[in-house]
Amino acid sequence: SETVIKCKAAVAWEPNKPVTIEEIEVAPPEADEVRIKIVATSVCHTDLYHLFEGMHKDGFPVVLGHEAAGIVESVGSGVTEFQPGDKVIPLFLAQCRDCRFCKSPKTNQCEKAWSHRADAMSPLRSRLTCKGKKVYQFSGISTFSEYTVVKQINVTKIDPAAPLDKVCLLGCGICTGYGAAVNTAKVDEGSTCAVFGLGAIGLAAVMGCKNAGAKRIIAVDINPDKFEKAKVFGATDFVNPKDHDKPISQVLFEMTNGGVDYSLECVGNVGVMRSALESTIPAWGVSVIVGWTTLHDFSAPPGDLIAGRTWKGTMFGGFKSKDGVPEMVNAYMNKKLMVDEFITDNMTFDQINDAIEMMKHGKCIRTVLTFTE
Ligand code: NAD
Ligand code: ZN
Repeated sequence: SETVIKCKAAVAWEPNKPVTIEEIEVAPPEADEVRIKIVATSVCHTDLYHLFEGMHKDGFPVVLGHEAAGIVESVGSGVTEFQPGDKVIPLFLAQCRDCRFCKSPKTNQCEKAWSHRADAMSPLRSRLTCKGKKVYQFSGISTFSEYTVVKQINVTKIDPAAPLDKVCLLGCGICTGYGAAVNTAKVDEGSTCAVFGLGAIGLAAVMGCKNAGAKRIIAVDINPDKFEKAKVFGATDFVNPKDHDKPISQVLFEMTNGGVDYSLECVGNVGVMRSALESTIPAWGVSVIVGWTTLHDFSAPPGDLIAGRTWKGTMFGGFKSKDGVPEMVNAYMNKKLMVDEFITDNMTFDQINDAIEMMKHGKCIRTVLTFTE
């Protein structure tokens, strides 16, 4: 565990360019850190956001990737929870189990993660080096690399029987969307729901609504190719905003006789966030923001909320990550949760730019990338 590992990684040198496969150096884990061999990783829209949409020039060069599964290679001093050989999922949202946030059932945020966040994204603290230059570790983990080093609060042990090229999706997308419905919206039996955006996040939200007992689930997307998959996860109605002249909130209002009980925005567009809010029934509607953007602020007339609606957001679906991810893995192993159905493509890690392009053009749900020897 004392040695530097040289391995393959996808480095994003600057925004709006393809990533390049490089040889990088991965430092040994220091105190309270774990070095992981990544076996499978998938691409999430948040990686694309950083690369193409965020409009920030900071945060480069970077190794992106935050949805993955792997095997512990070595551990730093003070690490007792993990041993080499353990199957694990890295966590972009930490859980230290010790701070006042972790001890509260009201949140899945971790105060220690907050104080470490600047640290984790700092090139000075990064454990990854390429061509003599420190490279940012995206969201403190960087899974587009054969090996990575994370803090022990940013990784969780899972069932050793779990197939890593499937459960990697539980590192972000599926837990985020599913939890947004189940933990954050708290969808209840017999309710009517609308899900905006049918990528992995939105489809997982549809699955969450279904498992929570919703009787009607309206799937909304401007790409009608997504409707077939939405049906697999339990959607009952399908709406393409482009097929209508009226605002989509009005369309849903009329379809539901006054608005849906729950809506989930899984796009990352402030206009859609407002539409999702205004699609809910004024008296008790709950709308959850799941999509990510820093480009614009959201807005709505105060009367929208004064009438009785609730507007909230969710990170990682409200799951306390270290506890929740192994439970979700178990749910999958016990056939209580669909995972395989999200995987539309499998590729080798070298094809990562193809996977990125496919997501950019709405041609996939999730592509799983695996490392070949
Ligand atoms: P994706 O690109 O696979 O899916 C997005 C979907 O939204 C696509 O099907 C697209 O056609 C659809 N869409 C685009 N504009 C639309 C519109 N105006 N109306 C309806 N549908 C529209 O992305 P994904 O990986 O599923 O991620 C979705 C969002 O969730 C992203 O913003 C991502 O950054 C965010 N995210 C948030 C968290 C969190 O913790 N809150 C975690 C992961 C991802
Ligand atoms: Zn993600």
